[in-house]
Parts: sequence; C-alpha cells; structure tokens
Amino acid sequence: MKRALITGVTGQDGSYLAEFLLGKGYEVFGLRRRTSTPNYENVQHIKDKIHWISGDLTDLASLIEAVRISDPDEVYNLAAQSFVAASWPQPITTGHITALSVTNMLEAVRLIKPEARFYQASSSEMFGKVVETPQKETTPFYPRSPYGVAKVYGHWITVNYRESFNMFACSGILFNHESPRRGLEFVTRKVTDAAARIKLGLQSKLHMGNLDALRDWGFAGDYVKAMWLMLQQDEPQDYVISTGEMHTVRELLEIAFSYVGLDYKDYVVIDPEFVRPAEVDLLLGDCTRAKEELGWKLEVGFKQLIHMMVESDLKKAEVEAKL
Ligand code: GDP
Repeated sequence: MKRALITGVTGQDGSYLAEFLLGKGYEVFGLRRRTSTPNYENVQHIKDKIHWISGDLTDLASLIEAVRISDPDEVYNLAAQSFVAASWPQPITTGHITALSVTNMLEAVRLIKPEARFYQASSSEMFGKVVETPQKETTPFYPRSPYGVAKVYGHWITVNYRESFNMFACSGILFNHESPRRGLEFVTRKVTDAAARIKLGLQSKLHMGNLDALRDWGFAGDYVKAMWLMLQQDEPQDYVISTGEMHTVRELLEIAFSYVGLDYKDYVVIDPEFVRPAEVDLLLGDCTRAKEELGWKLEVGFKQLIHMMVESDLKKAEVEAKL
C-alpha cells in the first residue's frame, strides 16, 4: 500500500486529491495546522480515513517529524497563502509561507526520505504579465503580485532540488481550477454563491473588480489527477495543466446569473476595493506536454463547471433561506 503526505489537505485541491488517493488504496497522511477553530468542511466526509499529523509549514522541525511519521512514497505540497489579492497587504507572510516553506518541505524530505517523490503546487500566476500566449512550460515568468513572486521561488527551488540532489521533484504549473469547494473570496465561487443567494433573496448586490480579466478555468477534480500522474512517470518533469480555453469574468457572471434566470447587470457594482494594484490581464495554458506524456485529459468544461458550482451554492442558500 502506497503512502502519501499532503500539505494543504483541508483546502480545495487537498480534499480532492485525498479522495482520489484513498480511492486508489493509498494511506493518506494530512498535515494540519493548529487553529482554535479548525475548518474541516472540505474533508468532513473522509476525515476519519486521513491520518492527521500536526505541523506548520514554517516550522521545519514539525515537517521533519511529519515526514518521519508518515514515511511517504509521495509528498504533495499544496499548502500556501493561496489568495493573490491577500498577498499585497501581507507580502512578507506570503513570502514565508508560499515561497520559503517550500524549501522547508524539500529539506524535510531530503533529510528523512530523499527517495520520496515530491509534487510542488506551482501556479499560472507565475506567468503574470504574459510574454507569450498561450503559456507553456518554457514560457518565461513575469509575476505580477507578491503571491506570483513567491510561487516563482517555490517553482525554482523545486527544480533546483531535483538538479542538485537528484530528487524526484516535480512542479505542476496549474492554471486556475475551481469547484464547489473553492474559497468564497475567489472570483468563480464569489459569483456562483452570489447568483444563488440573490436568486433566493439573501443578497441584493455583488461588488466586483475588473470584469475584463481573462482566465483559463478548469475543474479542480480533474487537475488533482494530473498531480498524481506526474509522480508516476519514469522521470520527474514540470507540466502545465490547463483547459486551453479562456473566458472573461464578465462571461462567468453571464453564465452563472443566467443559470438562475437573472441578468448580472442588475446586481453587479464595480468597486475599487476589488481592483488589484497590478493585474494579470490574461492567462491561457498550452498543456500539450501533459496530454502527450501523462495521457491527462479534461473531463469537465467551463459551462458545466459553473453550473455545478451554482447548483451546489443553491443548495447551501436554500438551507440558509429556511433558517
Ligand atoms: P487569481 O487568478 O488566482 O487571482 O484568481 P481570482 O479568482 O482571485 O481572480 C481571477 C480574476 O478575477 C482576477 O483577474 C481578478 O482581478 C478578477 N476579479 C474581478 N473581480 C473580482 C472579485 O471581486 N474578486 C476576485 N477574487 N477577483 C476578481
């Protein structure tokens, strides 16, 4: 039976990955950070199947202990300060967690179980002010936020440990990936939640930022399979994972609101609070390498994804409306 250690297991991607690995018969170990009010919402249904280990990404000793206890064949480093907008007001925290902690995790693996395979959650935000379109593995990075800058560090330190210590370390450059488990501050979930709540009379307006931004949005459940596939190859490599399709925030609004029979223009208010100091105008991925080498394929398209998210938010809003 294979053993996997996942950081960020209570997040969107961690929960889908844990489900997927449990389905494959893995022993799954999840790192959890102590908080006074823990949030297990995404993993409630599998909470008893995960072996929980307390630790913190910024505390190397706790990571060494986590690797020792879990004795993993595979390590998935998904934990981060993952919200771009929060990285301007908290650039140093973002640097500690999203950048330097990758080295903590790599060091823990190198010292205790160097033969374990390592996955680093890299991000299309590294492409930022894009220098070519579509973006692929060889496209130079031009990050546009403290988050993007931190992810570039995480990416290169992973490559460096592969080249320096011959570790099986891979970096997955994932474009935006969403689901009903996406945090409410991200634009997709913010919009699908608002469409549902406005439909049920629980909310009247939706405050938004730049509606012209273009993103390549896929389904998180499809993307975690690519993470696993990367660690099953003969050689470690970095891969772009994307849909190869892009849509504006405006189209997202259109699809979500029309699904509940509303016109978003009646509810959306443009609010400077949600406009970013530096914007990533466009992201579009070319995942040819992943398709050819990993045999990875996409199952859920954009419209289907947004409908799935609105459906799920309608169910939650119905419960709230009855209270
Ligand atoms: P990101 O690509 O990782 O930054 O993912 P987000 O879901 O946070 O944002 C995607 C895009 O939506 C960015 O270009 C944002 O500027 C844009 N956007 C427009 N209005 C909003 C908003 O109200 N909230 C968020 N999170 N993003 C918004």
